[in-house]
Amino acid sequence: MHEFWSKNIQFIKGVGPTKAALLNKLGIFTISDLIEHYPRRYEDRSQLKLISLLNDGLVETFQAKVVSFADSKPRPNLIITKAVVQDTSGIANLVWFNQPYKKKALRIGMNLFVSGKIQRKFYQCEVLNPDIETVDADDHINTGRIVPIYPANESISQKWLRLLLWQVLTGDHYNRPIETLPQAIIEQYNLMDRYDSILNIHFPKDQISLAKARHRLAFEELYLLQCGLSYLKQKNKQKCLGIKHAADGELVKKILHSLPFDLTNDQRRVLAEITADMEDTLSMQRLVQGDVGSGKTIIAALALAKTVENGFQGAMMAPTEILAEQHYQTLNSIFIPCGVKTALLTGKLSRRKRQDILLQIKTGQVDIIIGTHALIQDDVEFNRLGLVVTDEQHRFGVLQRARLQLKGTMPDVLVMTATPIPRTLALTVYGDLDVSSIRQLPPGRKPIRTFIRGSAGRKRVYDFVAAETAKGRQAYVVCPLVEESEKIQAQAATTLYEELTQGYLRNIPCGLLHGKLANKDKEAIMAEFYSGRIKVLIATTVIEVGVNVPNATIMVIEGAERFGLAQLHQLRGRIGRGTKLSYCILLSDTKNDDTRERLTILTETNDGFAISEEDLKLRGPGQFWGTRQHGMPDLKIASILRDTPILLEARKAAEWTFASPERLELIRPAVSKWFGESYLMAFQG
Ligand code: ADP
Ligand code: MG
Repeated sequence: MHEFWSKNIQFIKGVGPTKAALLNKLGIFTISDLIEHYPRRYEDRSQLKLISLLNDGLVETFQAKVVSFADSKPRPNLIITKAVVQDTSGIANLVWFNQPYKKKALRIGMNLFVSGKIQRKFYQCEVLNPDIETVDADDHINTGRIVPIYPANESISQKWLRLLLWQVLTGDHYNRPIETLPQAIIEQYNLMDRYDSILNIHFPKDQISLAKARHRLAFEELYLLQCGLSYLKQKNKQKCLGIKHAADGELVKKILHSLPFDLTNDQRRVLAEITADMEDTLSMQRLVQGDVGSGKTIIAALALAKTVENGFQGAMMAPTEILAEQHYQTLNSIFIPCGVKTALLTGKLSRRKRQDILLQIKTGQVDIIIGTHALIQDDVEFNRLGLVVTDEQHRFGVLQRARLQLKGTMPDVLVMTATPIPRTLALTVYGDLDVSSIRQLPPGRKPIRTFIRGSAGRKRVYDFVAAETAKGRQAYVVCPLVEESEKIQAQAATTLYEELTQGYLRNIPCGLLHGKLANKDKEAIMAEFYSGRIKVLIATTVIEVGVNVPNATIMVIEGAERFGLAQLHQLRGRIGRGTKLSYCILLSDTKNDDTRERLTILTETNDGFAISEEDLKLRGPGQFWGTRQHGMPDLKIASILRDTPILLEARKAAEWTFASPERLELIRPAVSKWFGESYLMAFQG
């Protein structure tokens, strides 16, 4: 049975190598891919009209009998086929250009479904290049019904795809899609069976069947997703009977007491959840999500302290060099006074220095290692890894997280993200992790005031920047996002830097920061900005995460329309970190209403949870967190946001499944097929 579905598409009747190559371009390689190539939308051609009532300019469907037909050849390169058809109300002319084969399909007296665009002129009704099908055939698939419209390309026509799918789904010598869901679940949640669902998603009997089919297929996806994630979670827990940290000792207490502030209630609660996990024999798999500036770093530091005082090493992985450097500084200021040894491992160390640090890590001479992707390279060996922290999870894939984890014998894992999402979603997206949220910001933060300005107001914006720097404040200017490459991005930043330092910001100490600078130059510039010698930092999104300069109270974002909402919010999180009022100015000349609406959300709220939710609504989940990046399968039909009710049902069903090993065994093949081997393997250890 399974072999059939994984069969190469090329061997289906009517396909062959050429068409197969075209299908491959649509991501269709096997029969199973084909039947999961779901329609993008539908055209309802099931509403039949009388010819006399057909509307000029609309695509309509009607039923009529062929009265006559003929070809003509008015010019050498032009063949016109005309047919006259009739129903009880009137006559219509069907016209095709250069489709001589149409004539062969026609017979006088034949009963047709006709779908096409109506043109009324001089009391005549004409239909140009219509789709026709005989009414008597029970497999009319292009007219007289709700017709699927597929994602397709130039070389593959809708009609050919429809025919192919029809043949595979209804042809005698093809297999029927097999049921994947347990019968008990189908009954309990009143779901359509799998074959009917697939048939109806492609060729809906009516709108109700279509809705039921879609419901069932969305349920299936979300259910398999939930099952897979729960499976991973369980698997992780099972293997993790390893590190049991002791109750808080001297180091943790000392750091807590030395903090110049009290933890917020949310920070306390999250810390208690982490502490409980770490003191448990099972390994921690926890995500901490909290808005920018909510104070996640100190929470990570306390967790690292806990593992260190238990005699383990802690690792912290950040997505960029700048952020790693920043964490290194912050953690140093906390740990060095306590005699804890730290090291920074990034990709840009000299060979000798790197070897040196690697040896120190291996022999256990350093306690806390901070780094970028350089941490997960093969030659990095830890002595006794007790805790792995990854910051800004949305930048790392699940696989990378797993790789770092595998460097220890089941260390505790703490993941931090500043792109918070509502709890229902978090439980799904991060279904293999426990989730803690910090919703509260430290006290005394003034909300950032955000404005949108067009280029007409640009001079006034920069005058404001100049005036504020004169008062001792500092500012960021973010240059427009260019997707092409880091090199082009760096050029754009350089151009903006030159323009501003020769223009609006003449006489003000400015710095330029982009991804193409040498490491030591980056460090030098950041150091000058921290010290306040540089007043305005003109930068690319390299400053997006982590940079913490409380005296910086202004941010100007050029070409704001090019950024995503969540990204703008991240950028904005660089200001509003002190007690002074901060201002964010989004420069944009966009005329597009959607974009305006998107930017306006930022002027209305500072709540990262609300913003992520809006972003999700406007852009859809795929673009929002890039499921691919997470190494998770794409949802083909379900929408995590729109289908929340189905998601909740699917979760209940998954819980039910997990309550018994027999049920779990039943669903395992479907889950592993859906997730793919590599994803599950990453967690096998
Ligand atoms: P993020 O969650 O974005 O990583 P950080 O950990 O960088 O936030 O914290 C932002 C700033 O807030 C830092 O300067 C940090 O010292 C400060 N901070 C953290 N917790 C508190 C608190 N409870 N009270 C006051 N300031 C705090
Ligand atoms: Mg942070």
